[in-house]
Amino acid sequence: MTGLDDLPLRDDLRGRSPYGAPQLDVPVRLNTNENSYPVPESVVAAIAKAVGAELRDLNRYPDRDALALRADLAEYLGHELTTAHVWAANGSNEVQQQLLQAFGGPGRTALGFTPAYSMHPLLALGTGTGWVPATRGADFGLTAADAVAQVREHRPDVVFLCSPNNPTGTALDPDVVAAVLAAAPGMVVVDEAYAEFARPGTASALTLLPRHPRLVVTRTMSKAFGFAGGRLGYLAADPAVVDAVQLVRLPYHLSSLTQAAARAALAHRDALLGTVEAIKEQRDRIVRELRRSGRRVADSDANFVLFEVAGDQQATWRTLLERGVLVRDVGLPGWLRVTAGTAAETDAFLAAMESM
Ligand code: PMP
Repeated sequence: MTGLDDLPLRDDLRGRSPYGAPQLDVPVRLNTNENSYPVPESVVAAIAKAVGAELRDLNRYPDRDALALRADLAEYLGHELTTAHVWAANGSNEVQQQLLQAFGGPGRTALGFTPAYSMHPLLALGTGTGWVPATRGADFGLTAADAVAQVREHRPDVVFLCSPNNPTGTALDPDVVAAVLAAAPGMVVVDEAYAEFARPGTASALTLLPRHPRLVVTRTMSKAFGFAGGRLGYLAADPAVVDAVQLVRLPYHLSSLTQAAARAALAHRDALLGTVEAIKEQRDRIVRELRRSGRRVADSDANFVLFEVAGDQQATWRTLLERGVLVRDVGLPGWLRVTAGTAAETDAFLAAMESM
């Protein structure tokens, strides 16, 4: 049998494993921060109709510029953004990959504040961009002074900020983003995949866009919209940034089916986003109950909670799995991450945690 080692693979990919959480068939799956609620029937019908209307034209390539979808996304974001400020791709992972293709690459570096979204360094690896693992405070917080000092030291071409931060859950104050923008010599990407779950009073970095052409805010329909299977991520930035990613995007990267489905989902956003408040309630309940049992728990503006376990997190992860609850071991010693879903899922998770 041919193994990877027998192939002329790039040296920097040797010995690596692909990204991904275990895909296990268990009753309660709280490991990938999906929206636990299925798409409502009325929205299913609307998406089916929109996709159906495209089928006869599948002999033709889709709109390469996805103009109608980008207009809808701009309208959803508000902040006086237009089609020219927005770009879309197959998930925000692809958007971020395109950003690194355009602004990173061989001889350049990207920096992120660990622990943060583990795909950022992998996207850097895949695009030949050097990765600088900067750090966060002991409480997982990131102050402007700390962030600025590390950016000044490394002078990366791309800075990744994640707000709310995965896996810790807490949103960043836009003042920290502004301070990083002032210190960074290159692009600053704020990954706001979980923005819709933020607690009241938490501002998005979108508010900074008009004055900052090197700022990019990435968003996704995978979380709050419950559209993870649809694969639709997007960015908002200065129109020049959108011109830049068009230099590296594959032609026709967004299928006409994806564009139609995403537009139908956006048109029914009230129904889809209707689950956000219920999920936030479960998130706050998980934080409250775990703290009541004496655990350390990170504040969360997202649809997940990072909590401390006694001793080895791998052992707790396995015990929870034996009890039918799948959570995420993000590789942080002593901590696990659980997604907030339905009330029944929270019941099952808390019950499984009780005796530990
Ligand atoms: N950013 C963050 C912080 C995430 O947690 C995720 C999903 N795990 C993504 C981006 C990617 O989401 P998608 O590609 O589905 O848009």
